[in-house]
Amino acid sequence: MSLTTYKSKRKFNNTPEPDTAVIKGNKQLSFVVQRHKASHLHYDFRLEMEGVLKSWAVPKGPSLNPADKRLAMMVEDHPYNYKDFSGVIPKGNYGAGIVEIWDSGTYTPLTEDKNADNKKLLRAGLKAGNLKFVLKGKKLKGEFALVKIKNKSGDKENTWLLIKHNDKFATDGDYNSEKETAKNSPINKALAEKTAEPVKKKLSIV
Ligand code: MN
Repeated sequence: MSLTTYKSKRKFNNTPEPDTAVIKGNKQLSFVVQRHKASHLHYDFRLEMEGVLKSWAVPKGPSLNPADKRLAMMVEDHPYNYKDFSGVIPKGNYGAGIVEIWDSGTYTPLTEDKNADNKKLLRAGLKAGNLKFVLKGKKLKGEFALVKIKNKSGDKENTWLLIKHNDKFATDGDYNSEKETAKNSPINKALAEKTAEPVKKKLSIV
């Protein structure tokens, strides 16, 4: 696990994002879903593994409906502290825009073996492109899977799917993560101001 790519993409004198090293792995594993208004609004799904956050950009956001297979592009590992990051990434920086925490909590790899070595399980799942885990978040709960799509060009494209398993937390109705977002969230406020701007200008002319 390395943060070299993460660090190389950022100028830490110019972004409030954390510049921290790989930590010693925790026993209690964390996950976070961040909503990120950059050039496109998307979600970032992050699972703590071996002292970093393995990260996937999920354009449509997660779903609790097992029929939804949400595209999840694997991106560079982020530092563990990134799970607490929200704020503004200034213009000119990588990922410039607003980051807010959409959901967070703990997770465990999905296994029936009570004596399983979690670290080993996750490492194997990552390598196989098949991670199964149980989330204990405020919004996301129960069993999920991240499955890597095998493509002809080999492993170059880091395309995965985020899928909810059928369990008591699953829904068969429409699930829209945008609707699960607080109306007064920083991103929603910024979006509302943007929409209101032309109206204000028009009014001032009158
Ligand atoms: Mn992002």
